[in-house]
Amino acid sequence: ESKLQLVHRHIRAFPDFPKKGILFRDICPILKDAAALTAVIDLFEEHVRNNHQQVDLIVGLDARGFLFGPLLAQRLGIGFVLIRKKGKLPGATVSVSYDLEYGKAEAEVQEDAVAAGQKVLLIDDLLATGGTLYAACELMKKLQAEVLGCMVVIELKELNGIDKLKTHNVFSLVQY
Ligand code: 5GP
Repeated sequence: ESKLQLVHRHIRAFPDFPKKGILFRDICPILKDAAALTAVIDLFEEHVRNNHQQVDLIVGLDARGFLFGPLLAQRLGIGFVLIRKKGKLPGATVSVSYDLEYGKAEAEVQEDAVAAGQKVLLIDDLLATGGTLYAACELMKKLQAEVLGCMVVIELKELNGIDKLKTHNVFSLVQY
């Protein structure tokens, strides 16, 4: 079994969660299985080493980006930065609001988290409409960071999230 097959086998689908009509892709089984989690990080690491000469920081999105981001950053020997939902980070922050399916949300990062000119890779568990990663790109722009690309475990192709993003450099392990 390949690493990719192993990852695939540890993603579950739940119909009508969190609301009717949504097919929710659940990555919890990946975290529960040491080999599957290792495979995810192996595949991300391989991608980064093959495609990016220099990366300064991995930037993870609240909340499931926090599960994979630090493991990857540690493998690469670089640091990890958190983008959080509004109101969770102490000190000076910059924020950006973005549209959800219903209503609005706000994402925030500490002002000193990334220095101008630093090269970053964004990571989350899943790309759907792209709204969340778009907001993260906006935050990085405010800090004058250079976004090299985005990485997700799962990409939901039919929602065309990739078209919404500032960077089309999106790497996903599994596509639906
Ligand atoms: P987007 O902003 O691209 O529409 O939605 C992506 C965000 O919503 C990600 O932060 C992701 O964690 C969450 N999300 C949306 N749908 C799903 C899903 O089916 N499974 C998981 N695990 N996360 C989802």
